[in-house]
Amino acid sequence: MNTGMITAAYIVAAILFILSLSGLSHQESARRGNWFGIAGMVIAIVATVLNGSVDNYALLIVMMLIGGGIGAYLAARVQMTQMPELVAILHSFVGLAAVLVGFASYFDPTVHFEGVEKTIHNVEIYLGILIGAVTFTGSVVAFGKLNGKIGSRPLMLPFRHLLNLGIVVLWILLLFAFLGSGVTFGSLVLVVMTFLALAFGVHMVMAIGGADMPVVISMLNSYSGWAAAATGFMLSNDLLIITGALVGSSGAILSYIMCRAMNRNFFSVIMGGFGGGASSTSDEDGEEQGEAIAVSADEVAQLLTDASEVVIVPGYGMAVAHAQHPVSELTKQLKSKGVNVRFAIHPVAGRMPGHMNVLLAEANVPYDLVLEMDEINEDLPSTDVVIVIGANDIVNPSALDNPNSPIAGMPVLEVWNAKTVIVSKRSMATGYAGVENPLFFKDNTRMLFGDAKDSVEAIRQALG
Ligand code: NDP
Repeated sequence: MNTGMITAAYIVAAILFILSLSGLSHQESARRGNWFGIAGMVIAIVATVLNGSVDNYALLIVMMLIGGGIGAYLAARVQMTQMPELVAILHSFVGLAAVLVGFASYFDPTVHFEGVEKTIHNVEIYLGILIGAVTFTGSVVAFGKLNGKIGSRPLMLPFRHLLNLGIVVLWILLLFAFLGSGVTFGSLVLVVMTFLALAFGVHMVMAIGGADMPVVISMLNSYSGWAAAATGFMLSNDLLIITGALVGSSGAILSYIMCRAMNRNFFSVIMGGFGGGASSTSDEDGEEQGEAIAVSADEVAQLLTDASEVVIVPGYGMAVAHAQHPVSELTKQLKSKGVNVRFAIHPVAGRMPGHMNVLLAEANVPYDLVLEMDEINEDLPSTDVVIVIGANDIVNPSALDNPNSPIAGMPVLEVWNAKTVIVSKRSMATGYAGVENPLFFKDNTRMLFGDAKDSVEAIRQALG
């Protein structure tokens, strides 16, 4: 392919990526957006492979087959509940790739820059490796926190802010040392900086508590984009720069949206320490919680038959139980009995942005029944029955009325304002943030214990 054709292919791919992002912003157009993304990526890969600078096709094809094979195998096997972990580990690969490309670029014997061009190239290498290394270890720790291998409690090292500041100052000093040195000393500086960045990535995410994890996921998504953009600069690949910038900025916007949804300031999230984990509202306040009242599926079916307005609040437990299809069927069943059923989605429900929307779309729940938290909170007082399916933190009233709660200030779905609240979960266990939930002890709450899928099936049977 000649340069003109490659440039044209890159422009088409870039446009397809932009169309893909705009498609992914609405549920109705998300499928189309995905196809645009796939088409853009195919064009980008073909154009890059046929670019004149590739000279070892055999190696390239073998590596693509191995990488593609592992990707296809993992994608086919991964459970919906493991998607957030998969996304986190994929971000780590982008980071690692940026680090490796950075070193390869520094040692590439065919690259000869002089003067300002050399300085610019070295700054690109330095930043690419730095962002890549932070993204790599940060994402690996996020992966561990999401799959429970690492606890969600924040790691609070003494003088941690000073430690972070010290690392940032060292990075700046090392950058100047790197720019003014030859290859031998320069490589040593790069290696020292890389180890500092790897340690920083671990420390940054370890310091972030369970409650702030949604922001961390989107933040690492953004970092992986900037790491890819830096790689694009190193390789003089315009498409990689554009793609990296698209991922970087959309991840940054998502981080902002998640911060707003949780009523948190981005910098306090980065500083860490929020959402300690082990706190219990009852212990702290010395308040008696009272007794939770259990209910049977038959009784729930009776309550639903008598209701005219029903709101379903899905949470992480719905994903664990794979209950989305029975929930969709229950919705049809109630609608056929003349009950108005709607869904209330909290922005951080589940374990990744949009998690619940994806599950409901998969189960063919009509989009117009699915409402965001801000749209439905004011309708809850006039709702007869709210069914909370495997959700916990997102319906915790202590976020609003207990300033000592680790999730204090986070907007939640105010389900307790409805006439009756049914909570479907297996036990009285806490959710991701590890906080006790006073909702379970309210007079108008009834606990439907058991796996969410079994419980919903039982309600459906009882409804007849
Ligand atoms: P939670 O994690 O707060 O609660 C989920 C509940 O589901 C648990 O209390 C559990 O109780 C129940 N559950 C688990 N398995 C089943 C099952 N098979 N059947 C029935 N119930 C089940 O989830 P929420 O969606 O309410 O809140 C999301 C939390 O995750 C927030 O704290 C958020 O900050 C955090 N988070 C969100 C991310 C995002 O991007 N959306 C990313 C990372 C973290 P039991 O064991 O008793 O059944």
